[in-house]
Amino acid sequence: MRFYIAGGVGDQGRNCFYVQGERHAFLVDAGTSTDGMDRVPDLTLEQIRSADYLFVTHSHRDHTGAIHFLEENGFTGQVLMSNQTYRQIHHKPLNTMILDSTAPELELSTDFRVIWGRTGHCAGAVWFLIEIEGKKLFFSGDYREGDPFYRCDEVRGMKADLAVVDAAYSREDRGSEMREEVMKTVEEMVKDNHPLLLPVPHYGRGLSIAVLIHQRLGDAHPVYMSPKLYDEWLNLAHRKYFARDAVLDMPYSVFKAWDEEHVEEGGIYLLTDAQLAKSYSRHLADENPDMGILLTGSVHGYGRAGEYLSEGRAKFTLWPNHLTRREMQDFKESNYFSIVVPFHNPKEEADADTFIF
Ligand SMILES: [Zn+2]
Ligand SMILES: [Zn+2]
Repeated sequence: MRFYIAGGVGDQGRNCFYVQGERHAFLVDAGTSTDGMDRVPDLTLEQIRSADYLFVTHSHRDHTGAIHFLEENGFTGQVLMSNQTYRQIHHKPLNTMILDSTAPELELSTDFRVIWGRTGHCAGAVWFLIEIEGKKLFFSGDYREGDPFYRCDEVRGMKADLAVVDAAYSREDRGSEMREEVMKTVEEMVKDNHPLLLPVPHYGRGLSIAVLIHQRLGDAHPVYMSPKLYDEWLNLAHRKYFARDAVLDMPYSVFKAWDEEHVEEGGIYLLTDAQLAKSYSRHLADENPDMGILLTGSVHGYGRAGEYLSEGRAKFTLWPNHLTRREMQDFKESNYFSIVVPFHNPKEEADADTFIF
């Protein structure tokens, strides 16, 4: 069995892994880079054309941005993903197989089986355990336990010959402490009843942060959402498969739809423009000098978010939707993995590009 890293290890985005056995070959994720260059995975035409399947962990561009590139270069295999992932991606693959959430196991042939579970990272995100020709390979995808909104099928006691595990955050604390830090900053920023702006992506941490704020602050600080995020709330809040029990009990009316224009004292506004790249977002920030801005995810080179941060106009506290180094260690210790490949961290290299086992 040959496992090949085509991107995503010691890299910015571009997550992609190729596995070749005696009889089968497959890919897991096909992302583009997040450094602004949209680099595609390092795959030969032969590798692309030999893959029977592409397993997609979730919709984010660093895992799906290169699907079209694969198809243009002769990939004709089936693309497996959850229904939520399919809904969220822009380029719909030609040959998709939707994973059945009621039966998280699939036999692709007698020596090729796949099991999956939810990762808690965003709606539709899954991990995969792939059993092929007598070997087992585990792919965590972007993995987050304990999220206030998304369910996670926690991985414990799992055996695999090789595991590709989320190692995105180079820090020694855990997710629960990181969430506490975000909440402390939020409370600090609204204590004088100033409005607070939280730029978030369309799919991901927005709903998680909103739920935790509501659980902590109740009605004292109403939470407003951009129309796109509010749609997600209506779409997902009562879906048993992805939302946690505490969320299923919350009425839709706990959050309010926002016109992305009017701002009131003490209100908390979730804006679906994570990098503040749109001109109306900047207008909003400039028109409301009293409004705090809290960034909770990685700040990229485009948009005004980075500038606001360096000028002191915005604050930054990272919201966890990946594993920290400490949690990656916990994860290794509670499972049985012979080889571990840490991914999703530009500073974390693997021992090699190819593993043969
Ligand atoms: Zn992701
Ligand atoms: Zn990712």
